[in-house]
Amino acid sequence: MGKITLKHVNKSFGDVAVIPDINLSIEDGEFVVFVGPSGCGKSTLLRLIAGLEDVTSGQIDIDGTDATYLPPAKRGLAMVFQSYALYPHMTVRKNIAFPLKMAGLPEDEQEKKVQNAARILNLTNYLDRRPGQLSGGQRQRVAIGRAIVREPAAFLFDEPLSNLDAALRVTMRQEITELHQSLKTTMIYVTHDQVEAMTMADKIVVLNAGNIEQVGSPLELYHRPANLFVAGFIGSPK
Ligand code: ADP
Ligand code: MG
Repeated sequence: MGKITLKHVNKSFGDVAVIPDINLSIEDGEFVVFVGPSGCGKSTLLRLIAGLEDVTSGQIDIDGTDATYLPPAKRGLAMVFQSYALYPHMTVRKNIAFPLKMAGLPEDEQEKKVQNAARILNLTNYLDRRPGQLSGGQRQRVAIGRAIVREPAAFLFDEPLSNLDAALRVTMRQEITELHQSLKTTMIYVTHDQVEAMTMADKIVVLNAGNIEQVGSPLELYHRPANLFVAGFIGSPK
């Protein structure tokens, strides 16, 4: 589970087509990176998939079902927010359990899922702390834990590392890649950072002004960029 298909997706704000017409298939288990310069529509595209914005026209299928007008909670996807979105007054346990509590899951089942997420993320010994008592990397892992407990068909990341320092970014990149390798769940990861895209992705989607310039593996994009925009952006020698 975790196949997502966009068919002629258009998103306009007033007269402006921020996303004119996108067709894209994301396969189950893929790590897909949306990359492109600031303002090119990466966040908008992710929010359309998440259901946080409605498409103006077109269709979004999730696992073969038309999900175009499903509310976010019914799509089975989990957005990972930046770590500053944690609740400072709640313990790590309560932060991670929050979506389960909202869904009305019994407390013993919440605890089981929290323990499982904490084990995956090496947070077992930190469950009683508050976010302010954690390192930046640990805080980021708590934000990911909140998504893991929902057992989503796909994880959606919108520049999750952009407020971390350079060294921590490299570590977290590696951790998210390892998480993908162990969970094998579809991940869609938005970034404006080419290095992040090239090191993390199975498949890169290069966006420019709301259009897809090229879709391919990091090696394909590097060795066979479709045009000068891709070559320039990826830094390949065309
Ligand atoms: P990115 O994430 O790639 O930086 P965004 O998806 O945030 O880009 O934005 C793409 C374009 O859509 C930008 O020009 C932005 O100003 C515009 N945009 C995004 N959200 C809105 C909105 N709610 N109303 C009007 N314009 C918007
Ligand atoms: Mg953005």
